[in-house]
Amino acid sequence: MQKQHPKIAFIGLGNMGSPMALNLLKAGYSVSVFDLVQATMDTLEQAGANQANSASEVVQNADVVISMLPAGKHVESLYIAENGLINQLKAGTLVIDSSTIDALTSKAVANKLAERNIHFVDAPVSGGVSGATAGTLTFIVGGKEQDYATALPILQAMGKNIFHAGDHGAGQVAKICNNMLLSVLMLGTSEALQMAIDNGLDPKVMSDIMLQSSGRNWTLELYNPCPDIMPNVPSSNDYQGGFMVDLMKKDLGLAMDTGIKSQSSTPMGALAQSLYTIHSMQGNGQLDFSSIFNLFSKQEKS
Ligand code: NAD
Repeated sequence: MQKQHPKIAFIGLGNMGSPMALNLLKAGYSVSVFDLVQATMDTLEQAGANQANSASEVVQNADVVISMLPAGKHVESLYIAENGLINQLKAGTLVIDSSTIDALTSKAVANKLAERNIHFVDAPVSGGVSGATAGTLTFIVGGKEQDYATALPILQAMGKNIFHAGDHGAGQVAKICNNMLLSVLMLGTSEALQMAIDNGLDPKVMSDIMLQSSGRNWTLELYNPCPDIMPNVPSSNDYQGGFMVDLMKKDLGLAMDTGIKSQSSTPMGALAQSLYTIHSMQGNGQLDFSSIFNLFSKQEKS
């Protein structure tokens, strides 16, 4: 049965988790928070959250636990390691993990928690820090229908588009399939624009042509990688802000792991992973992922 005012414990208050927890507070939820970094908890406390000294303390009395952690090993250790929260959470608690992690870890955590009648959905997000701040994230949820229904109003306080992709792990698979495609679109758009520049064309004119032709895609519509074609995109701001190269690299690594396990053929994704790895190794890991445009530039790189 859906609870009217669930008490929420939020674990992982980084770039994404902090604004997400803030939006829950704004929506009137009672939120307790925990992170390894004290300063992030202080900020949330000023906004009305209760601060805890440990993960086990933060989940006391929680009906719903949300985690937003870097990688699968953090999620696994938080919930199902020897001293994990599995031993603290009461039966019937719903765990919403919004971290981007591999689907197998997600499923393993879900199955282990289910043994104690603790419910779990994977709910990775798309939309980045700006989407988290604006409360317009896309959530891609994997889990049981009933748990999705319980999670829905909570996710709506932090996001705009919420999808139920399938059973446990499906949210993670859907998210990395999308990001793998995005990386390929970004690379294809970048090399096409650079070849046009090499042949004397104006990249703005070329973008307009492709936007009205069969090469049209999301990167041309909303996120042109060539500087000064669009305002308010990272390419027009020295590739600052947006979605970091190292996060795209991480997601492509997850995509490759998934493809190997399902024996899927992903040559474009594999090439994208290599190219993003090179780009990161060249010192661009903290830049927006559209900076891959420069990999194809003939101009002297500084
Ligand atoms: P981040 O590194 O900024 O934040 C992670 C936070 O988790 C940190 O504050 C860290 O102290 C905390 N943490 C780690 N282990 C912990 C533990 N055991 N207990 C409590 N806190 C712990 O990362 P982020 O950018 O917020 O990303 C979080 C997740 O969201 C990642 O899986 C990432 O791939 C995904 N994601 C990020 C973006 C983005 O644009 N930043 C977009 C979509 C998805």
